[in-house]
Amino acid sequence: MKKSLRKAVIAGNWKMNKNRAETKTLISELKPLVKNADCEVIVCVPFTDLETALDAVKGSKIKVGAQNCHFAPSGAFTGEVSADMLKELGVKYVIIGHSERRQYFGETDITVNKRLTAALAQGLKVILCVGELLEQRELGITGEICSMQTKIALTGVDAADLKNIIIAYEPVWAIGTGKTATAEQADEACGIIRSTVASLYGKKAANALTIQYGGSMNPKNAAELLSKENVDGGLIGGASLKAPDFSAIVAAASL
Ligand code: PEP
Repeated sequence: MKKSLRKAVIAGNWKMNKNRAETKTLISELKPLVKNADCEVIVCVPFTDLETALDAVKGSKIKVGAQNCHFAPSGAFTGEVSADMLKELGVKYVIIGHSERRQYFGETDITVNKRLTAALAQGLKVILCVGELLEQRELGITGEICSMQTKIALTGVDAADLKNIIIAYEPVWAIGTGKTATAEQADEACGIIRSTVASLYGKKAANALTIQYGGSMNPKNAAELLSKENVDGGLIGGASLKAPDFSAIVAAASL
């Protein structure tokens, strides 16, 4: 982390976990544990928990995000939720392009770009996920993949909107597997993403961009990952479901 240049952000991705009562409990456990955090703290909850979470975080510095949004404002898109709908609820953040969306729900780089630009147009802040498959890492094309995904996702995005974007480098082979990228691998890939952004928007803008690592980050490995210059925070899945674990990662980012 280079806190002199950019904001450290720890975001929890609860995925399809927690009902409304559990949401209330987890957030009330988290509140005292993160009250002195020296980083931004976000919880990205299922759509059905958004209202509960927004109410539960009141009086704390925890922000609430959704895990996806559609690119159209409304229409015949059964099962989808629009950026306008999130905005109306008071949601401030949305994850776009998570690898589980890409893997299981047919999300492509093009639809990621469409969803991202729709979210920005509604004033939402986006956590954009990019990352390579294991086969791609083994082929030595991690940099190319991350760079390509970043470029396509940012197509048509104004420089002024970069401040509303966080990029999460999430190697697909490390998500929910217990396999973490080494701190060096995470730093290298986050650095490549930063260089890609620099090639599009200039060095100053790239240096100000928060780039998180995500993939089995936990209280044991967080400090080492976060010690790297290009790793400005974490997107946390499994470990965000337990207040002591999530708050320990927040503490590691607050040093
Ligand atoms: C994620 O869902 O973005 C994630 C990184 O999950 P996990 O921490 O469980 O690997």
